Amino acid sequence: MLLAENLTADVHDVVIIGSGPAGYTAAVYASRANLNPILFTSSVEAGGELMNTTDVENYPGFPEGIMGPELMGHFEAQARRFGTDVQYEDVTELDLNVQPKRITLADGTIHQARAVILATGSKYRELGLAGESALVGKGVSWCATCDGFFFRDQPLAVVGGGDSAMEEALFLTKFASKVYVIHRRDELRASQIMADRALANEKIEFIWNSAVTAINGDTKVESLDVENIVDGTTSTLDVNGVFIAIGSDPRTDLVKDQLDIDETDGTIVVQEPSTATKIPGVFAAGDVVDGKYRQAITAAGMGAKAAIDVEDFLG
Ligand code: NAP
Repeated sequence: MLLAENLTADVHDVVIIGSGPAGYTAAVYASRANLNPILFTSSVEAGGELMNTTDVENYPGFPEGIMGPELMGHFEAQARRFGTDVQYEDVTELDLNVQPKRITLADGTIHQARAVILATGSKYRELGLAGESALVGKGVSWCATCDGFFFRDQPLAVVGGGDSAMEEALFLTKFASKVYVIHRRDELRASQIMADRALANEKIEFIWNSAVTAINGDTKVESLDVENIVDGTTSTLDVNGVFIAIGSDPRTDLVKDQLDIDETDGTIVVQEPSTATKIPGVFAAGDVVDGKYRQAITAAGMGAKAAIDVEDFLG
């Protein structure tokens, strides 16, 4: 039922925003504590970053590994099993400085909740080059599992030196004729196991100490301009696609004017070891508060903490 201003009549105990490991784990705990959580997944990014991942080998409980989307399906099913109301909606506005807090959705509906758990994760970083946004879907991508299939027997590039870049590059070798990994240093940031796999793969060639300075092509990616940042030499690399995997930034747009944001890494500041933010009743968990570990298992652990913190707050 809607009241004036599209305000729903019910005041929820807790609204959870975000549907990665942190959001769904918070939902499992909150629903088992009879807090009847409502969880807004976002419409296009439901399931979070693991939806763009292939094999997850380091999530405990799956000795043979599990595909990212399948794992997120399990998370969601477990949250629903205990009564979480999962809604594939986008939250567009939050008013955290009133009690109950107000959560506005894209269709204008305003929900109210005594407590809010922010589990909005992070968003992929862009290179910031001309041609990058114009060629999205035409060879520029942030998701090898979504787009790799379209580049059978074609040369591709991956930018970055972390675990994501290695994962993307290794996945793309299944389709591409060749995969160049362009990294700005001569040493990888990726974990040893991922780095070793990529370094041993014959289809992958590393271009060290280098930056992409332009993405070229009118209707689709045709080549990249690459600069060696040590000696200043430039070259053109003929590729049909470029996969950008240079990390991500905490998604704080909804709350950055209301909560404290860490100046160094852009995460929401919480009162560790709890997940409480500076506003009573507002809690945050997962990549949006984590500038260091950023693992599915650590996000899930924080989600559990957030739900327990909400239970204490409401109690
Ligand atoms: P990341 O670890 O932050 O690595 C980002 C990489 O991109 C770094 O090599 C960085 O270079 C480079 N980079 C950053 N900004 C750049 C720019 N403007 N231009 C060019 N290069 C740039 O990010 P991630 O790889 O997405 O990983 C994020 C977290 O998720 C990590 O904790 C990672 O362990 C985890 N993860 C784990 C797995 C797995 O376990 N299988 C898979 C994916 C991600 P520098 O090295 O010079 O800083």
